[in-house]
Amino acid sequence: MRVSHSRPSINETDLEVIVSNLRSKYIASGEETNLFVNDLSNYIGVRGGVAVNSGTNALHLALMGLDAKTGDEVILPSYVCSSVLNAVDYTGATPIFVDIEPDGYNIDYNSIEEKKSENTKCVIVPHLFGIPADLNKITKLEIPVIEDCAQSVGAEYNGKKVGSFTDLSIYSFYATKVLTTGQGGMVLTDSEEIIEKLNDLTKYNQRENYNTAHNYSLTDFQAAMGRSQLKKLDSFVDKRKNIAGVYTEVFEEVGQVIPNTENSIFFRYVIEVDNPDKYIEEMGKLGVDCAKPVFKPLHQYFDLESDEFLNTEKAHNRAISIPIYPSMKNGEIQQVCGAIRKVWDSIK
Ligand SMILES: *Cc1c(COP(=O)(O)O)cnc(C)c1O
Repeated sequence: MRVSHSRPSINETDLEVIVSNLRSKYIASGEETNLFVNDLSNYIGVRGGVAVNSGTNALHLALMGLDAKTGDEVILPSYVCSSVLNAVDYTGATPIFVDIEPDGYNIDYNSIEEKKSENTKCVIVPHLFGIPADLNKITKLEIPVIEDCAQSVGAEYNGKKVGSFTDLSIYSFYATKVLTTGQGGMVLTDSEEIIEKLNDLTKYNQRENYNTAHNYSLTDFQAAMGRSQLKKLDSFVDKRKNIAGVYTEVFEEVGQVIPNTENSIFFRYVIEVDNPDKYIEEMGKLGVDCAKPVFKPLHQYFDLESDEFLNTEKAHNRAISIPIYPSMKNGEIQQVCGAIRKVWDSIK
């Protein structure tokens, strides 16, 4: 039996609400989508926003909501998936890559300070792998911030949900994210003014004056699924934390050092080893699919000095992610634990 690296967690209730919506007359973006936006806004603790068809487009819309355009600079970490860079590129703004923290995987406050300029429009702050970024410091920057909660919906920082701390937050409901609608996303904000602007940028029917609008709509049957998934979010997070607890015991037993995962909802369970390719290969032989948690740091796509990204390089050269998701069965969790023990013996 193979344990896949990730897998969606979908149950009969999800299927029922999708089918029920498909039997109704309204399957495009409508009332159910509005309700999904309300539900997630309430959960996060912000005013509202707009549901869209992907996390990437949620980021694009959030950037447009802040008027990011050619000539502006947008700061983002190098250690993140390329969809974040895609969203910046859509706007014409210049991406400014910064390093991650020396003792974690999130964007480094000091590097933002170093690279901010009079052209800085905003900074994108992913809460990577389910671990909240250092919002205490970041919210003191005098720059607008977009929280990228694509990997961390449900995580808390200082007793509040991430996504409620800054100007805007974005979410992804891609198949293997914490919540899924197959593909999908959302932009949330506490600002009435920004909500109006986001609506203006996405709703194109029945308008007096023309301006470019983006059809990024989510369908109502996806929204129905999203609402059903959201009801399970807290139990999803509990399940992730439980599995993480089991893994941590095994890693402690074998003597592997566990990176700091304070407040994590464990979207990814990441460990660091000297030879990640070898580790992935050996786990693969035992039927456990592991992966590098970031395919390629963004600065490596360009001709940038790698000594400005030492922490990113170190993370990328050492980190691997092992399977963790709420639909994992006990047998699968045990198989992963067994593989961890065996592989540790063979690599040390
Ligand atoms: C998945 C992800 C996105 C993009 O979301 P899609 O729905 O795949 O477009 C953006 N940022 C982060 C941190 C992600 O993990």
